[in-house]
Amino acid sequence: MTETIKELELVQVTKRYGGTVAVDAVSHHFKPGSYTCLLGPSGCGKSSTLRMIAGHESVSDGSILLGGRDISDLPPAKRGTAMMFQNYALFPHLSVIDNVAFSLKMKGVDTATRHASAAQMLELVDLTALSDRLPDQLSGGQQQRVALARALITRPSVLLLDEPLSALDPFLRIRMRAELRKLQQELGISFLHVTHGQDEALALADEIVVMNNAVIEQAGPAREVFNAPKTAFVAQFMGGHNVMSLPEGHFAVRADAIGLTAKGAGMTDGQITAVEYQGTHVSILARIAGDQEVTALIPDAAFFAHPQNPGDHVGLTWDKQNLHPLTS
Ligand code: ADP
Repeated sequence: MTETIKELELVQVTKRYGGTVAVDAVSHHFKPGSYTCLLGPSGCGKSSTLRMIAGHESVSDGSILLGGRDISDLPPAKRGTAMMFQNYALFPHLSVIDNVAFSLKMKGVDTATRHASAAQMLELVDLTALSDRLPDQLSGGQQQRVALARALITRPSVLLLDEPLSALDPFLRIRMRAELRKLQQELGISFLHVTHGQDEALALADEIVVMNNAVIEQAGPAREVFNAPKTAFVAQFMGGHNVMSLPEGHFAVRADAIGLTAKGAGMTDGQITAVEYQGTHVSILARIAGDQEVTALIPDAAFFAHPQNPGDHVGLTWDKQNLHPLTS
């Protein structure tokens, strides 16, 4: 449904608000036709990056290229991008179909043509039956689909989504994220989705771009970023990892990659400080040299074959290949 799939590229993009540097010379190629999540804690510069790509915020320095063309100074509607907002920003007095057709009306497209186009989009998001309703007659999930259809009607190369699931309850959030993923795959265009939730990013993204303090800390396939964090920040933010300082350096190791053995028989010794049953796993907290706390997630069968208690001295063991060196 799009004209072409174009590559989005950021070249040394900077955003300053007065003295605050919100985005600091960020460069990145986004793979065409992929689902990318921009992930990081509040205030790290995700939304500013997205808003600059959308054209809702000016670029202080650097360029934004789409399909090789510099779009940094173009108005939002001329860029080949479309934005879906967190609060959906639907017009309360317009019916579903007129909300979806709105941008075509602005372009002067006649009623019959724009309604035909909007009907196509509503079919795509499975809302044909609700075309004549007003936004406040819809559930949160339905409103979100209207907002999606409204963004997609411009046939963008890149759909920008700013925390699109945060207004939904947890049950709906999981359902809608599956729908977003399916829609992206059906359309084959790039989705760039801002989130502060690592679960959401892992569930959705082909590529995760982790931001921290106005810069990209690490970018790569979701599994790579989770499994092999390059910095202590990424390891801690993605979760499921221990960050350890060992005689040979700083490392991240996944909690589920650590096993228990007899004292002296592992890679390091520790004393158990807490044991927590979690159903499929038992979470063991142990103190190792340097007063460091390490979490080991032991499958329940393995744990109950050799149960341990707080106070016990044990060896902690892991495969060397699961130890990921950290650069900072
Ligand atoms: P995130 O989306 O990761 O939460 P933002 O891009 O919203 O981060 O914000 C990055 C930084 O820029 C923060 O320090 C924030 O306070 C600041 N900031 C964002 N928008 C504005 C603005 N309109 N005026 C001044 N400072 C802003």
